[in-house]
Amino acid sequence: MKIVILLGAPGCGKGTMAARLSAQDPVFRHLSSGDMLREAVSNQTRAGRLAEDAMKRGELVSDELIAEMIKDTIMGVEGECTLLLDGFPRTVAQSVILDQMIESCGAELWAVVWLDVAEEDLVDRIVGRRVCQSCGAGYHVDTIRPKKDGICDVCGDALVARKDDDVETIKHRLSVYKASTMPLIDLYKERGVLRRVVGAGAISETVELVKNALG
Ligand code: AMP
Repeated sequence: MKIVILLGAPGCGKGTMAARLSAQDPVFRHLSSGDMLREAVSNQTRAGRLAEDAMKRGELVSDELIAEMIKDTIMGVEGECTLLLDGFPRTVAQSVILDQMIESCGAELWAVVWLDVAEEDLVDRIVGRRVCQSCGAGYHVDTIRPKKDGICDVCGDALVARKDDDVETIKHRLSVYKASTMPLIDLYKERGVLRRVVGAGAISETVELVKNALG
């Protein structure tokens, strides 16, 4: 198994890239820590109850909780595939945990794609973001419009804004990103696995840039 980390600020398009790549080629599998947490919250599992408050405030949930949640999923992946990690790791401590998981399941860290998007674009992208309340498919009021307003193309359920996508929480999430996640850029650069992709153009153009970066 190859591991690809999609790294970047909230709203940079990690989930969109992972969804497009995995729809185009079944070799790619998308693993979103945020989606896993939102599902845990909506099912009110133990992990969900522990994570809920931090998520609402735009804080990170604890490294231990994330590690516990994600470990079985990564270790349970079967067959040859490229796992696209969207939202994990988000701290240096999580990158160490990931290294241990990679070693114990004989996987390979193939690349870390840093989706570099200008800060002024991030807030606009997040404010316009909508997700399907049932299947989690992602949309945007301007750039990824459903065929019918407010309705998911995939399953027909309603599209909603995420609870943590209001302007104040977004600003906080960006500051958390700078303090806790940006150090990973230098860390992976030093390890020679970082590939920078500038996400300034249309989604389809950025998808092509990511594919090129993955070689
Ligand atoms: P996301 O969907 O990736 O934007 O994540 C939504 C929220 O889930 C974040 O703001 C955090 O509260 C939490 N979260 C997701 N992934 C992680 C992670 N790897 N470490 C800590 N918290 C996370």
